[in-house]
Amino acid sequence: GKPPLAGVKDAVQVAVNIRPLIGSELLQGCRDCINVVAGEPQIQLGTHCFTFDYVYGTTTESSSSKIFKECVAPLVDGLFYGYNATVLAYGQTGSGKTYTMGTGYTPGGNNGGVIPQVMEKIFNKAHHLRNQTHFHIRVSFIEILKEEIHDLLCETTVTKQDTSGMKTPLLTRPSIQIRESTAGEINLAGITETDVHTLQEMASCLAQGSLSRATGSTNMNSRSSRSHAIFTITLEQKKKHREKSSSSFDAACDDFLCGKLHLVDLAGSERAKRTGTDGMRFKEGVHINKGLLALGNVISVLGEDKRRKEPRHVPYRDSKLTRLLQDSLGGNSRTVMIACISPADSNVEETLNTLKYANRAR
Ligand code: ADP
Ligand code: MG
Repeated sequence: GKPPLAGVKDAVQVAVNIRPLIGSELLQGCRDCINVVAGEPQIQLGTHCFTFDYVYGTTTESSSSKIFKECVAPLVDGLFYGYNATVLAYGQTGSGKTYTMGTGYTPGGNNGGVIPQVMEKIFNKAHHLRNQTHFHIRVSFIEILKEEIHDLLCETTVTKQDTSGMKTPLLTRPSIQIRESTAGEINLAGITETDVHTLQEMASCLAQGSLSRATGSTNMNSRSSRSHAIFTITLEQKKKHREKSSSSFDAACDDFLCGKLHLVDLAGSERAKRTGTDGMRFKEGVHINKGLLALGNVISVLGEDKRRKEPRHVPYRDSKLTRLLQDSLGGNSRTVMIACISPADSNVEETLNTLKYANRAR
């Protein structure tokens, strides 16, 4: 395998992003209950005190460009050296995960999140290196709901015929299987991987998937808060040789590099609430917790490794989410978790849960 990337401190870094009080909270008379220790990445909540790698949202300065510069840009640099990486946004519904990641992308909208900045940096770098390197960039956009993987870039129309012979079109998202190569690479069988040549092409994939996710259900909010959305950028590159004019990609070639970056807008971390007699809904809640629970366990083992002589078993197989991210969490890969929180006193219980979860990752 590749040597660890120079300048890498820890395999897992944790940032907390505190959003401002929003209109509905202000209307309810909510108060800000978060104390950030001046000049330190430290948060006090009641009698609890937590230290993270970074804390954002305490100044009027845009936190999204700081998050990008400090936490995410180094991962994009690593991608150009062939290293895999994962950025995860964690937090209760309404805490700012989609805002922070930019997974609710609409062309011409307020698109200041992490993903739009990643896209811009990738195409800038590729442009600068175009004389010595061939690039092949692909994206996929999937959603995990109820431990099932759905392709957000592919909508196939299936016709259903009832007993009277009447045909009605049904929109289905084909289910995807996770495959692992002997080299430990994770691939998704049956997924749409779109080749993109320009920033605009990549942005339109992001917009298409964001829209597909939002319209996948009659209740827009519930689907996106119960599912994990994963936007994946794969970057393949091959050195150009003056003597050879071939631009074909050959994975066996020494000059070939491939890396992927997963950008994940996780399901809402709030505890599944049993609402009325809606048993289905509860089952989905249990599944979501399975992914978040497994992720917490995996990340906490990865964080422990640096203090142990013998590496511990990492429980990747406990959920689809961790299985899918397996080759991009731990090992030579870098992970940034952005824990998103609301400052409102009405959310104090969930905020404390989020800070505790994020704290396990360090
Ligand atoms: P989540 O995806 O975690 O459910 P959203 O990203 O949808 O949360 O954010 C919830 C609301 O808070 C949205 O109206 C969003 O515009 C607003 N919001 C989130 N983060 C910020 C921020 N940093 N500054 C201003 N508004 C924000
Ligand atoms: Mg969201």
